[in-house]
Amino acid sequence: MKIDEKCVVTFHYKMTNDNGVELDSSAGREPLVYLHGGGKIIPGLESALEGKSPGERLQVTVQPEQAFGNVDPDLIQTVPPSAFENADDVQPGMQFQAQGPQGRAQVVTVTEVSDEGIQVDANHPLAGQVLHFDVSVEDVRQATEEEIAHGHAH
Ligand code: ZN
Repeated sequence: MKIDEKCVVTFHYKMTNDNGVELDSSAGREPLVYLHGGGKIIPGLESALEGKSPGERLQVTVQPEQAFGNVDPDLIQTVPPSAFENADDVQPGMQFQAQGPQGRAQVVTVTEVSDEGIQVDANHPLAGQVLHFDVSVEDVRQATEEEIAHGHAH
């Protein structure tokens, strides 16, 4: 059957950035399983998979708007070193759990450490990136009533 709303889809994928660097892959792991139409995978990939059948292979390029969004400059802030328990050990690239605007936990990445403070970026690490997917559709089946009610694949 072809991929449509309320299908459970199993697929293998490889994700690379615009420079051809592999960011993620399901090779050697279990394939990804998701409920189609539920917004469980990035929109650009979900719409590209629509209508595909098991055994099909596709290459998809997804713009940031259809992936993890554009970089929001408001999410990049410089905070005083005193905001960190052990500021001396903080280095660019480190990630911390912080409290977001709605009180939700969010991951921030340290992008710069200077005398003025520590710059942290709360954008998704893949925000602003054009992503390339190499996908092979392994299986497509009708979702069960329970899966549709729950909004995810079992
Ligand atoms: Zn469930």
